[in-house]
Amino acid sequence: MKYSKEAYSYAFDKISANNKDAEQSLEYRKNEIYSKIGRIKEIDAELAQTGAAVVKAAVSSAEDIDLLIEGLKIKNLSLQAEKENLLLKNGYSADYLKIKHKCELCSDTGYVNGKICKCAQKYLQEYSYKELNAVSSLEDSTFENFSLEYYSDILSPSIPGGSERSKMLANFNYCVRYAKSFCEDSPSILMIGNTGLGKTHLSLAIVNEVIKKGIPVIYGSVLNLMNKIEREKFSQGNMTDTLDNLLECPLLVLDDLGAEFDTSFSTSVIYNIINTRICNKKPVIINTNLSMSEMEQKYSQRIVSRIIGSYDVLFFYGNDVRQLKKQKKIKR
Ligand SMILES: [Zn+2]
Repeated sequence: MKYSKEAYSYAFDKISANNKDAEQSLEYRKNEIYSKIGRIKEIDAELAQTGAAVVKAAVSSAEDIDLLIEGLKIKNLSLQAEKENLLLKNGYSADYLKIKHKCELCSDTGYVNGKICKCAQKYLQEYSYKELNAVSSLEDSTFENFSLEYYSDILSPSIPGGSERSKMLANFNYCVRYAKSFCEDSPSILMIGNTGLGKTHLSLAIVNEVIKKGIPVIYGSVLNLMNKIEREKFSQGNMTDTLDNLLECPLLVLDDLGAEFDTSFSTSVIYNIINTRICNKKPVIINTNLSMSEMEQKYSQRIVSRIIGSYDVLFFYGNDVRQLKKQKKIKR
């Protein structure tokens, strides 16, 4: 996958900060031990000397070079053992004075055998997801501040077996359970209903919980994401990184499906995303104001039946909550 220059500098800044932290905390532990166990300071000085002596012996032309190096190695090992014993005797772990890197795979260098390490991959991803996720309402959309009071509790003949509120309570509970038990092969969800009924709120509440688990998420309006992919596609020499990210991230939230411009390009990209992620069993949450039949008109039966066949479908009921909230403010 290709990442931007900014993503690389973000990732390697993080890694070098990790390395600095590891070195600093080792320095701190060293000073602590040196002041408590004077002999260990001497041992470290001797170890530094034997190290230098090994290098000197290796480049010398002395005849007994192997013997010399062997002797230094034995001395080195016995000093190490003495040091570890002293640490243990004083109640420390034997590796207390070894550097502890945040990433043990690459020792906080970012590379393993010339290849980008997993930790660097993670930071690169983190950055590119953040770039895509510039949505301001994320923090404001939680399960705690989702209110059911705006949904009528009057039984309605148009709602099979209940009221708007009872249906929305069921949706709410479904989303809470979904977020709590989210894993990378959780089902996909289609949230369907008119504008202002809390679809975005509940999907962002799920996003908040999933991010807290340390699982990367991409969320965005279909309109913005399609514009970005289209720009990347037609800008010279630039591969479509956004599309790769949308295909690969553990959870993708597509807000407001149907609000994007009707072009054969966007329709084929949307089909590609939905289809590829179904095949790879990667969850997607889709919100739409379109009805099922409007979706079929816009995207062909093929996409819609793919979605209905493999997504959990939540129907949202009620009156535009944003309007109700405004009215409530005016009355107060
Ligand atoms: Zn690493």
